[in-house]
Parts: sequence; structure tokens; C-alpha cells
Amino acid sequence: MHELAITEQILNIALHHAEEAKARQVTDLHLQIGALSSIMDDSVQFYWDIISQDSLCQGATLHFDRIPAQLHCQDCGQDYTLTDELTACPHCDSIHVKIVSGQEFQLTSIDVET
Ligand SMILES: [Zn+2]
Repeated sequence: MHELAITEQILNIALHHAEEAKARQVTDLHLQIGALSSIMDDSVQFYWDIISQDSLCQGATLHFDRIPAQLHCQDCGQDYTLTDELTACPHCDSIHVKIVSGQEFQLTSIDVET
């Protein structure tokens, strides 16, 4: 259920920027999601369609941009990139790895009509 809270945050940020820009309509939102984030695009889209109704964001398109995760192996010291689910270190098969990035979820930009 935490997608609902996250989607509400996105809406609030977008509305805030739209009001500052004196926009009539928000048309597009660009979101970055780390590959290891548990957030489901479909859930965000589902809540978005509901909560953006009757706001400046109604009908705006969400663009999801999945970004690869970066991991650091604590046994062999190598960094590696993940584009899918979590795996052991490809260099030494260690599971003592630290997530450097890949769990983020952020609104990177919005497009508005003024
Ligand atoms: Zn390793």
C-alpha cells in the first residue's frame, strides 16, 4: 500500500510546481525508479488516475524511467551494476554486498502548459 503515499507525494510536489509556474495543466511527469525499488509502476499509475482527478494533474502522463542499481562487493571490493533482481557478486559469488544505489524513487521533472 505504500505506493498510495508515494503517489500522493508526487502529486503534491507536481501541484506545488504547477502553481508556482502558474500552469493551467500538468501534461507529463518523469519519474526515476531504482531497479531494486519495490515500487510497482502499475500501482502508482492506478493511484495516480484516482487522486489526480479534478486537479491540475488530471490526465497527465507518468513516464517511468528504471535506473540500474549499483552494488559494492564487500569481499572482493568490486562494484557491479544490476538491471534486474538482486544477485550475488559476479566476480566472486559473494552475497556480502552493499547496495550503493538502486532503491530511489524520485520525480525528476514535470511538463506543464501555461
Ligand atoms: Zn565479490
